[in-house]
Amino acid sequence: MKGKPLAGRIRADVAEEVRTLGAVGIATVLVGDDPASETYIRLKHEAANEAGMTAVDVRLPPEISEDDLLVKVEELNADESVDALLVQLPLPDHIDEARVIRAIEPVKDVDGLHPFNAGQLLLGRPSLVGATPVGVMALLEGHGVALDGARAVVIGRSDIVGKPMAQLLMQANATVTICHSHTRELGHHTLDADVLVVAAGRAGLVSPEMVKPGGVVVDVGMNRTDAGLVGDVDPGAAEVAALITPVPGGVGPMTIACLLQNAVRCARFRRGELTYPA
Ligand code: NAP
Repeated sequence: MKGKPLAGRIRADVAEEVRTLGAVGIATVLVGDDPASETYIRLKHEAANEAGMTAVDVRLPPEISEDDLLVKVEELNADESVDALLVQLPLPDHIDEARVIRAIEPVKDVDGLHPFNAGQLLLGRPSLVGATPVGVMALLEGHGVALDGARAVVIGRSDIVGKPMAQLLMQANATVTICHSHTRELGHHTLDADVLVVAAGRAGLVSPEMVKPGGVVVDVGMNRTDAGLVGDVDPGAAEVAALITPVPGGVGPMTIACLLQNAVRCARFRRGELTYPA
């Protein structure tokens, strides 16, 4: 399940929508100089610019106070030209991430992390949902993976990937099991998975023996190792699974494409073309 072809189509559609809308603005806030975060921000900006969006790249020093960061978020909330706003995580330890996320205007919350948007998803009325889980769902749909009644297992329960992923799968009528670092006998669960989504950030966590023969595997993991970028699933699992995403080139491109799609959604909400909350 390569992500690039579908991601390319989504990005072309987004560019067309941006032309129709006239202008779509996205702002990112990066605190500090974490190299991985800098790479993600660069990729997001390249993609936004290519789609014809106006992208504002706010860089703040690692020692910035929580209050000063909140002032910046408020400024971007009030900026009419900014439709979509994201604060790159993780933030330095002295800053309360939850407080910063709560400060983002919900209609601009392109990552779907604000408690209002997270709550909407939990209630089965998704308004803005994070780009990675949305991208995984698009990839599954694009490959004709049947979810109704399927057994789905999600490894990981983060707010940005695992939890929304499990909600979307459940809302597509899969029977969902969520595994995490305290799960006993992980393989017992994964072997039962018609659809296995792995988002743990542990290289090689899922071995081929843990994959159900003929199952579908989505590897969200991105781990920088001496051997380069690798996922959470041993590539040997491709021999067992019916479908599997590569790393790199699987979920990553979908995340970027769906982030742009979400930014357009924010713009449509703000222009009253879509009703917020949806
Ligand atoms: P995270 O916040 O660190 O969450 C990791 C989750 O995995 C936690 O829920 C943790 O359990 C669980 N976990 C860790 N070790 C485990 C183990 N040995 N067995 C079972 N569960 C385990 O990470 P995240 O932000 O969700 O990201 C997960 C991975 O996806 C990372 O590699 C990240 O780089 C990647 N990612 C990729 C994309 C993309 O576009 N491809 C986008 C976002 C993230 P506990 O809750 O018990 O600690």
